[in-house]
Amino acid sequence: SLVYLNGEYVRLGDAKVSVLDRGFIFGDGIYEVVPAYGRKPFRMDSHLARLERSLKAIGIKLDMSRADWEKLVRDMLVRASSDDAMVYIQVTRGVAKRDHAFPAKAPKPTVFCMVSPFKRPAAAAREQGLSTVSMPDVRWLHCEIKSVSLLGNVLAKQHAVEAGVDEVIQFRDGFLSEGSSCNIWVVKNGTVLGPVRDNLILEGIRYGFIEELARAAGVPFESRRISREEVEQADELMLTSATKEVLPIVSLDGKPVGNGKPGPVYARLRAGYDKAIAAL
Ligand code: PMP
Repeated sequence: SLVYLNGEYVRLGDAKVSVLDRGFIFGDGIYEVVPAYGRKPFRMDSHLARLERSLKAIGIKLDMSRADWEKLVRDMLVRASSDDAMVYIQVTRGVAKRDHAFPAKAPKPTVFCMVSPFKRPAAAAREQGLSTVSMPDVRWLHCEIKSVSLLGNVLAKQHAVEAGVDEVIQFRDGFLSEGSSCNIWVVKNGTVLGPVRDNLILEGIRYGFIEELARAAGVPFESRRISREEVEQADELMLTSATKEVLPIVSLDGKPVGNGKPGPVYARLRAGYDKAIAAL
């Protein structure tokens, strides 16, 4: 399939970037993932707003307007090999002689975009839920930037794989942060709790969406610091991401969450999520 690289559509195998690209050398870049259902982008505005925030956060200037990004996403979806698809966008600072500081004269940023088939979460995950283990969050303190420097997240996900579970739940100084590539939600006494949207987590595009779904379902919602004890004593745990949508977590460190089955609040949010997709 064709990918977009610096203004051109080329075959994936022909898309080449210099070894001096600062994305390769330093992880000096950002990315975004926009999900689409039936070739229609889901919450594209929020995704593109976050893309622009990430670029601004690391000082990359590009002459791409919001309309240009939208057009790129829509062009990719026309080319997608499946109706449900993920549009991946990556921008790095560009190619320059290796030096940590930003190049005095800003290079042309490298802009890459590809589209891949999106396999929605399987019935088993939705109905039986996921297993997790806890681990300390040892990542840096700018987790709010959707950076391609993902080594901390890669090692966290590998920790889950080696523990034989689906995902990790990370804690920073005894408080919930997030998963390796998803946000984590706690349900206690009928209220949905999400960690504070600060520099310690990436605010998923599903963060605001879960808040909306909860309110629409009449479920109280609160953003605040959540202790490890509260996570361990949760009635329900859930995770969200573009690829996982919303899924129930039924075990943590080998112990059941609540009664060990997907809970009623999950069921309501899941129903709202499916309804929003169907209404696209
Ligand atoms: N946290 C991290 C670290 C992530 O990589 C992601 C994205 N996969 C999320 C949270 C969830 O963000 P979104 O809902 O936008 O997919």
